[in-house]
Amino acid sequence: MRIIKSVAEMRKVTNSLTWKSKVGFVPTMGALHKGHISLAEAARKECKIVVMSIYVNPSQFAPNEDLDSYPRTLRSDLELAENAGVDYIFLPTDAEMYPEGYKTWVNVEEITDILCGATRSGHFRGVTTIVTKLMNLIKPDFMYMGEKDFQQVAVLKKMIEDLNISTVIKACPTVRESDGLAMSSRNTYLSPEERKQALCLNLSMKQAAALYQRGETSLTVIRNSMTEIILANQGRIDYIEFVDRDTLAVKESADDKTRIVLAVFIGKTRLIDNGDLV
Ligand code: AMP
Repeated sequence: MRIIKSVAEMRKVTNSLTWKSKVGFVPTMGALHKGHISLAEAARKECKIVVMSIYVNPSQFAPNEDLDSYPRTLRSDLELAENAGVDYIFLPTDAEMYPEGYKTWVNVEEITDILCGATRSGHFRGVTTIVTKLMNLIKPDFMYMGEKDFQQVAVLKKMIEDLNISTVIKACPTVRESDGLAMSSRNTYLSPEERKQALCLNLSMKQAAALYQRGETSLTVIRNSMTEIILANQGRIDYIEFVDRDTLAVKESADDKTRIVLAVFIGKTRLIDNGDLV
């Protein structure tokens, strides 16, 4: 695995590769876990060259968020990435990605104002900008992303369509701990007590699916039942929403295409999850 730290070197590698190889790209912020590794493994199966980036992108963190405390575990990340078969790992610095005088931003409208975008001001503008920059540098045929960040995938698919970018997004299923908690770099913030409480996201989605299986289609009834489970576990709800799996349009009543999306604070840690009703 070759480590690349500068934009110039990344560009050189890309120029030597893309004309002859299928390139798969896995963008991450590091603190790698099995969720990230599943993306690298999917890329390894389908592509000739696998590039991963590790970059904690400051522009996708609001001023009150956890940029400084975000877990950084580079040594073990490199080992995990190499074992997963990553060929090139791109580790740019802030000065490389946002040099002095940086002025350009990519913004997808409307679908970035709802759900996580309503709470995390400027978050998606940071995501769409950095991903555009990384795609321009790496020119991947496929970009592997987790369904764990359901809105992120929808936003980036829209951006790719609107800007006529030729990279195709491959959305991969959420990898979970054995008890059902979605893996996340932020799970390391949880105390042992909070770790137990954090199960309420998955439990509440299971309850929603069970209600729907029994014929319940009222989203008010389903939301109330989810709310009860979360509050009983000391969770503070940021949002529980029901959207169309493909368009992210908010649903009026439950059907087979309904995706539950939710964000819940457990202590100070904001966790997200999503899942189908069927
Ligand atoms: P992050 O490092 O959190 O920015 O995530 C980098 C990529 O890994 C994103 O495409 C995430 O959706 C994906 N990812 C994070 N957690 C998981 C998970 N539990 N299962 C699958 N993919 C994940």
